[in-house]
Amino acid sequence: LIQLSVPLNFLGMTYREIKRGLTDMEHMFRLLDAHAEVRDAPDAKPLQLRGGAVRFERVSFHYDPERAILHDVDFAIPPGRTVAVVGATGAGKSTLSRLLFRFYDVSGGRILIDGQDIRTVTQDSLRAAIGIVPQDTVLFNDTIYYNIAYGRPGATREEVEAAARAAHIHDFILGLPQGYETAVGERGLKLSGGEKQRVAIARTLLKRPAILVFDEATSALDTRTEKVIQAELAEIARGRTTLIIAHRLSTIVDADEILVLDHGRIVERGTHAALLAQGGRYAALWALQQRDPQAARAAEPA
Ligand code: ATP
Repeated sequence: LIQLSVPLNFLGMTYREIKRGLTDMEHMFRLLDAHAEVRDAPDAKPLQLRGGAVRFERVSFHYDPERAILHDVDFAIPPGRTVAVVGATGAGKSTLSRLLFRFYDVSGGRILIDGQDIRTVTQDSLRAAIGIVPQDTVLFNDTIYYNIAYGRPGATREEVEAAARAAHIHDFILGLPQGYETAVGERGLKLSGGEKQRVAIARTLLKRPAILVFDEATSALDTRTEKVIQAELAEIARGRTTLIIAHRLSTIVDADEILVLDHGRIVERGTHAALLAQGGRYAALWALQQRDPQAARAAEPA
């Protein structure tokens, strides 16, 4: 633990957090791992945010030189707009969000935010600008209050509760045995996938990032939960530059641009209407989901 405290302090974490339990240890090891991949440039400057325009410029990437994952991926999200990425499992969708957050550096091309190559800015400022609602939210073994407040250290109780209200989880929390003080996570109350995602949404709302990445859960949700989450997504995406990693086409019909990713290449792009008119792969997937939503989901191996 003494050895660990050095890199943990380096990450701005406290000794207390080490003791939170195994889930958190894994979480932190993943952070440490990612940290080892990339470093601030010696002359790194804080990101200068002006609207939060995101640009992937001919990005290629491999985790392992033997196996390319992304090829020449080129797209832009203007400030406040939404781009959605669809594609079969393993196509490289989540890799896009990892690159934007700079868990890894691109192998070719560059990623710009408001015109600044993300390799030239400090990771702290980059990560402060981006809010990720992940596929599978890891909860800390702590109170539900802590889990939401984590979104912005120093947030007031009112702000935390307002975020929970906006994420439609406040009433649920009040119904818990100890309200906001109820322990959750592996060693506390287990939350459902939808509830965990709402905690993640509340966290992100509290963080108020200029750029939002929403990595939609692959797991099947019941239709009602899906509709609610869709509405919540629309709410938090408003006014933010948003990248949606989509598994359900119904979530993204209103996106400004939809990218169809296949084996790391963009093979189709356009609005929902344009892609339907094109009658290609997106149109076929849409037709399949309309006929039988479950079958379409099953067509995407978990
Ligand atoms: P899904 O829809 O299943 O979430 P995806 O399109 O998001 O899939 P990615 O998670 O981006 O796919 O993964 C793209 C490819 O990169 C996959 O073949 C995966 O096995 C590989 N990959 C992902 N993470 C790593 C890693 N850390 N090291 C090596 N290969 C990886």
